[in-house]
Amino acid sequence: MSEAVLVAGGGIGGAAAALALARAGFAVKLFEARPDPAEAGAGLQLGANAVKALRMLGLEDAVAAAASRPTAIELRLPGSGRVVSRVALGAAHEARYGAPYFHLHRADLHRILFEAARAHPNVEMTLGCGVVRSAHGKSGAEVTLADGREVSGLALIGADGVRSVLRAGVAGRDEPRFAGMLAWRAVVPATEANMATPPIATVWMGRGRHLVHYPLTARREINLIGVVEQADWKEESWVSPGDPAAMRADFAGWSAETDALLGRVETAWRWALHEHKPLSVWSAGRVALLGDACHAMPPFLAQGAGMALEDAVVLANRLAGRRDDIARALRDYGEARRDRTARVQKASWANAWRFHLRHPVLRTLVYGALGAASAVAPGAPGRMYDWLYSYDPAMA
Ligand SMILES: Cc1cc2nc3c(=O)[nH]c(=O)nc-3n(C[C@H](O)[C@H](O)[C@H](O)COP(=O)(O)OP(=O)(O)OC[C@H]3O[C@@H](n4cnc5c(N)ncnc54)[C@H](O)[C@@H]3O)c2cc1C
Repeated sequence: MSEAVLVAGGGIGGAAAALALARAGFAVKLFEARPDPAEAGAGLQLGANAVKALRMLGLEDAVAAAASRPTAIELRLPGSGRVVSRVALGAAHEARYGAPYFHLHRADLHRILFEAARAHPNVEMTLGCGVVRSAHGKSGAEVTLADGREVSGLALIGADGVRSVLRAGVAGRDEPRFAGMLAWRAVVPATEANMATPPIATVWMGRGRHLVHYPLTARREINLIGVVEQADWKEESWVSPGDPAAMRADFAGWSAETDALLGRVETAWRWALHEHKPLSVWSAGRVALLGDACHAMPPFLAQGAGMALEDAVVLANRLAGRRDDIARALRDYGEARRDRTARVQKASWANAWRFHLRHPVLRTLVYGALGAASAVAPGAPGRMYDWLYSYDPAMA
């Protein structure tokens, strides 16, 4: 086998890219800064588009076994508890888009991807040693690792997350932008009553804040994510602990259901939301970006992991199709992905607007219209995302 493709970062995107490239016949060398990128994070959502990417990686069944299949998403109002809109998921989502909708713990998705990549004979992993520098020329790319070693390869994929070291080489110096919001996450044990209720994702839409919860059935847990507009606290970290009492206070009294869930929070995590502005060019010569390193986005459409999985499949397909011209293949990959990820980012912000409306008149008008649309044409709210879930990365 010829020189390897180098992958910086072994998160969801890096592990998926390593596996996709290995399955396409490339040798892969993956470098991950953490010594043990194991249990971290909380729940995440995967729509049919992301599950189709997992199917391409041969992992749909493994992920299905660790996931729950929500039957619907409900948008509700704190106080009254009114259900403004309901989008059917479950069988309806699968029939319409050709793959199921999953909820699962990030650690479970990451373990499945990471172990599949590690077990592939074409993949060599170096853990606990991040990439500190990169360079590229006409015939290859090179990384310098934290321990001083230099490794060269056919191409280099920057999947090193929102604080990417490799991004500067492609996009110049542009730091991720603080999105003016703080996000809470927590996982609480599910009660017998929770387990007996159909698995639904509920979005409570408050003024300048919202709270989402859904069951992670395979773990008998409930995932809670709360987002609050604020300008003061800006720390971008997935592992920053928060005060459970402060999380409870942000959403106190919204409903008996949310008070009960929040009352069971013993450990809370918080992170300040950051995003990258969309890039028009995703590669420079033999270096390309993937996942959050390229298009970190707010979580209001629950597509961060999904976009990284799609990237991985499209990247491997483009490289496999143009082994004779790697730089061109990387350029094609970026061109195939940039409009879609920018649209997802924009749609994510539209949800932030919808979920956080403050003015009482606007709330009455927007939620009234949403409710009326749901009543007249129950499928309509879901169909506005046909463009998102019908995408198949194998065909892109
Ligand atoms: C610890 C953690 C917890 C998370 N929890 C959640 C969650 O609960 N819910 C949710 O929706 N999303 C969560 N995410 C984010 C989600 O995984 C990503 O938004 C999405 O999956 C895109 O994946 P990615 O691979 O591009 O980025 P990430 O998943 O962030 O992975 C980037 C990887 O690159 C590694 N890395 C960073 N710098 C370097 C370097 N210089 N050299 C080598 N490796 C490097 C990081 O250690 C990390 O493993 C979490 C991410 C992390 C890292």
